[in-house]
Amino acid sequence: MDTTAGRTDLPEADAFTRTYWEAAAQGRLLIRRCAGCGRAHHYPREFCPHCWSEHVTWETASGRATLYTWSVVHHNDLPPFADRTPYIAAVVDLAEGPRMMTELVGTEPAGGPRAGMELEVTFRAEIPVFRPVRRV
Ligand SMILES: [Zn+2]
Repeated sequence: MDTTAGRTDLPEADAFTRTYWEAAAQGRLLIRRCAGCGRAHHYPREFCPHCWSEHVTWETASGRATLYTWSVVHHNDLPPFADRTPYIAAVVDLAEGPRMMTELVGTEPAGGPRAGMELEVTFRAEIPVFRPVRRV
């Protein structure tokens, strides 16, 4: 059975991005690192967006990030989002440098998010999302 039918939050995986989604299914966030300029990027591209080098390889990210900006989404009619509103659409800065669009979980939309707060990746239905780091 195809459990992804009707979901609009899972991109169509082609041969290139399949690597990314297979890693996500195993709980690993992948980024791309350029051997030409040394910079990392996200989402995955076959060329480095900074210097256009083709010498770009996969790298497992630390999963650490800081919150750059966010907005609380109250209305989204597309499945599966309709069942989840309100949710927090976020832009985070990965520890490796790339900026990533994602979702912030594990905190209340009202008053929870703070710019610069420390986050860690977690996976929900094989999609990387971020939550506040809990100190123990
Ligand atoms: Zn580069």
